[in-house]
Amino acid sequence: RLVVFEGGDGVGKSTQVRLAARALAEAGVEHVVTHEPGGTRLGEALRGLLLDPATGDVAPRAEVLLYAADKAQHLHQVVRPALDRGAVVICDRYLDSMLAYQGAGRVLDVEDVAAIGAWATGGLVPDLTVLLDMDPARAVGVKRGRDRLEQAGDGFHARVRQGFLDLAARAPERYLVLPARTGREHLARLIRHRLTGLGIE
Ligand code: C5P
Repeated sequence: RLVVFEGGDGVGKSTQVRLAARALAEAGVEHVVTHEPGGTRLGEALRGLLLDPATGDVAPRAEVLLYAADKAQHLHQVVRPALDRGAVVICDRYLDSMLAYQGAGRVLDVEDVAAIGAWATGGLVPDLTVLLDMDPARAVGVKRGRDRLEQAGDGFHARVRQGFLDLAARAPERYLVLPARTGREHLARLIRHRLTGLGIE
């Protein structure tokens, strides 16, 4: 099973990934915790390039292809092998991030980005996507100045948020959309409940 955590910057994804992993560990479920961009040597190198302000201007289409390369490598080296041996994979960001940031955010055709993403991932769709939703005006400040996206224009993070929500609305049965400002223990309980419902715990 593939369980993905998605959401804008500074919404607390990594905390919930950690709490979910702890719950699986306590339940004795074999699992792998990983993240995109990154999760492999090549991926970490691409992540460094993508997030480093020194990289300078990256054409939106080049950005899509670099994220797609990261995904293809991650799928090949980490995600597929783990799924094939029956482990649950918990991934901090996956395809939806590319559709929301590079598609909706950079205003590329989301269908084009989806086609590239589907090719890069061999069409692997998560069993569950936990979307932590928050008004970016409240969230972005958490990481202000940390990376290249700070240079994104006004409205970028609002488009990204809407991009995520639109994806969730298209296949609601595969999503758990939660308000990220809810207390973190409560969020963790809701996520755990859903995992149990999927037979994962
Ligand atoms: O998830 P994490 O915060 O580690 O992501 C690192 C950065 O990469 C974030 O600023 C995120 O907004 C950005 N990102 C992006 N496009 C993606 C995935 C992540 O711009 N497809």
